[in-house]
Amino acid sequence: MSDDQENYGFETQMIHAGAAPDPSTNARATPIYQTTSYVFNDPEHAANLFALNEFGNIYSRIQNPTNGVLEERVAALEGGAAGLAVASGHAAQLIVFHTLMEPGCNIVAARKLYGGSINQLGQSFKKMDWHVKFVDQDNPAAFAEAIDEKTRCVFIESLANPGGVVTDIAAIAEAAHAGGVPLIVDNTMATPYLCQPLKHGADIVVHSLTKFLGGQGNSIGGMIVDGAGFDWAASDKFPYLSKPNDSYHGKVFTEAFGPIAFILACRALGLRDLGPALSPMNAFLILNGIETLSLRMQRHCQNAMTVAQWLKGQGDVSWVSYAGLPDDAYHGLQQQYLPNGAGAVFTFGLTGGYDAGVSLVKNVKLFSHLANIGDTRSLIIHPSSTTHSQLDEAAQIAAGAGPDVVRLSVGLEDPKDLISDLSQAMRH
Ligand SMILES: *Cc1c(COP(=O)(O)O)cnc(C)c1O
Repeated sequence: MSDDQENYGFETQMIHAGAAPDPSTNARATPIYQTTSYVFNDPEHAANLFALNEFGNIYSRIQNPTNGVLEERVAALEGGAAGLAVASGHAAQLIVFHTLMEPGCNIVAARKLYGGSINQLGQSFKKMDWHVKFVDQDNPAAFAEAIDEKTRCVFIESLANPGGVVTDIAAIAEAAHAGGVPLIVDNTMATPYLCQPLKHGADIVVHSLTKFLGGQGNSIGGMIVDGAGFDWAASDKFPYLSKPNDSYHGKVFTEAFGPIAFILACRALGLRDLGPALSPMNAFLILNGIETLSLRMQRHCQNAMTVAQWLKGQGDVSWVSYAGLPDDAYHGLQQQYLPNGAGAVFTFGLTGGYDAGVSLVKNVKLFSHLANIGDTRSLIIHPSSTTHSQLDEAAQIAAGAGPDVVRLSVGLEDPKDLISDLSQAMRH
């Protein structure tokens, strides 16, 4: 981006960052560059691209111009230095950890995370001999205590699953930095419109673009944003970045690329070798979604607040966990980290327990009963009979998914209709 563009406000960047009329056709919307590969200008150009002596398009597994606009767009919205678009939120996490971890090392992670992330970190990563220590996200001191000489990063969500939990990013960033490791924040549920973790001390942000950024429930995608502030060469913890790399003629990424060594390694090593590339068609759809991000998030938050307030007054409802409510335990942190709104995903408890939860999801007509968040449509799920059914009751409760818990992702419909739908389904 030019200097001018860097000074543009959030809404302007949402529409323009990274994009310009197409130089060869003058097309105004970002074209879908549906191509696998790119012709080299001459053999020297080809050799320079392969040696990373010059940046440019080689093959769409590694880089694609439509995806490139999306990368600049999300990096600008997060206030980061550079982005890398990948096939899914989980692929973004995999590539980040692959860049930072070595066998035998560990991640210190918040206990309340998206269910799929608990599986990825806690189960699948065991095969790579990467370990995880889950700690209480409400207690920054627990992160400091858990970090040891084998820790390579700290991982949290800004607005945490299953909703309603706001994490103290600055305090946890301080604990991570005191331990010599970076803080990675999954900012999926908040989006950069509600929270910009890099401004609070985070080093890397990851996103599932599948949710509120795309916003319309039609494309899976992921993003890594590098704040470019972490000194990877300050210790010998990150040899992938600070030691000679055999697949690039012994290039040392921190020496060759300085502050953007991390995001370049994610692309030129992680994405190149692990392979989860984003389709340019999905990048196009997600770019379209991002153009209306602030408008959608404002309405998502308003509707969620209206529904949460209504639920609080219902006899069938024993509690509502929404940080936007003034008497909520996380309201203070919400005011500090998400002043524009508390998001659209939250949980509540039914006095009728498990059976009432099953009955509610069975009887809603307008809410869709499914396992996703961040759609224009309102979504509902009863975690203990679905996403968390493999856990015993104690583990469900610890994960915030006890038998009485229902999770909503409030969409953009007329809130009156959402309330009547919940009301008729609860009366069944
Ligand atoms: C959905 C989600 C993910 C995983 O993203 P995918 O795009 O489904 O791979 C990670 N973190 C959070 C908070 C999510 O909601």
